[in-house]
Amino acid sequence: MQKSIKKFVLKSRPSGEVSADNFELVKEDIPELKQGEILIKAKFLSVDPYMRNRMNNVESYVVPFELESAITGDGIAEVIDTKSDKFEAGDLLVGIVPWQEYAVIDPKKVEKIIPDENISSTAYLSVLGLTGLTAYFGLLDIGDPKPGETVIISAAAGAVGSVAGQIARIKECKVIGIAGGEKKFLYLKNDLHFDEAIDYKKTPNIRKELRNICPNRVDIYFDNVGGDISDGVFYMLNNHARIILCGQISLYNLNRLSMGPRLYPQFLFHRVKMQGFIVYDYTDRFTNARDQIKQWILDGKIIFDENIIEGFEKLPTAFLGLFQGENIGKQLVRV
Ligand code: NAP
Repeated sequence: MQKSIKKFVLKSRPSGEVSADNFELVKEDIPELKQGEILIKAKFLSVDPYMRNRMNNVESYVVPFELESAITGDGIAEVIDTKSDKFEAGDLLVGIVPWQEYAVIDPKKVEKIIPDENISSTAYLSVLGLTGLTAYFGLLDIGDPKPGETVIISAAAGAVGSVAGQIARIKECKVIGIAGGEKKFLYLKNDLHFDEAIDYKKTPNIRKELRNICPNRVDIYFDNVGGDISDGVFYMLNNHARIILCGQISLYNLNRLSMGPRLYPQFLFHRVKMQGFIVYDYTDRFTNARDQIKQWILDGKIIFDENIIEGFEKLPTAFLGLFQGENIGKQLVRV
């Protein structure tokens, strides 16, 4: 194995839209393994919208990335050498790892993947990973879906949205997905079998379109994007509707938030409940949720797609692609 390895560090904090210039590829020597540590080789790395917020130096539920330090995120890696009793060489693990080809880590933030011939290991970064779990807890715990209710999902062809919509279908809801572009529109209708889909790039007035396809208005809104799309949905909420505030990707690159029309009267008139959540709130229930999602996959009730880009050096490209809507399903990079 080579002594010098590549890693991506945060070179500068973005002002507005994130760009490839905010990342820098640097080389460094691998440090000696100390007692309790493991040497890992990255296999797959996940790029996730929340990382954009970690690039800002602001207080949040996760600490900001430090300048000149490795970006970290979810990944799958193989153990190459170990001075820990928890892992053996050859083990596959999943958890928070640095954007490095090889890295020496303290194994506290990773767990072993038990190989399963029925499901690919990358599923631990997608449908059985944080995004699938986000869909599961957001929809079931906050949305509390009932048969016959109408559920709207934004960023519906993405990692979280595609799983949330399929779980809503399992719960016998009418599911409408909103996503950008014809390819995603067809994916929602033909592959995920959502009842209706909206290509927001071709639909100037979301509210009007929803009025046509939701005669009974909207009971649950799984919001991944915020902004104008969400404003359109808010006008169509039913009495006692629930808004699952999962993500606001359309706002992450803005320096200043537009305050827009104030829609709170809609929430008041319709007795709406809106709740934000972070998937880590549910850590102690991850194992049971994973078992349930896995069963749905084996029963053919959930399909999942991964958009895999080849090559460690493509990490920034893959990350930027999330904000251009390049992915269907979970965006990953094979190292
Ligand atoms: P994803 O949906 O796989 O990828 C992001 C998608 O967002 C893109 O493919 C794009 O799809 C859409 N998008 C990007 N910019 C947009 C814009 N300006 N307006 C409308 N849509 C836009 O990503 P994900 O990992 O599943 O995350 C989805 C959301 O969930 C994000 O907001 C993320 O922050 C949030 N999240 C929250 C938690 C939590 O614990 N609360 C956990 C994981 C993720 P289109 O082509 O359709 O535009």
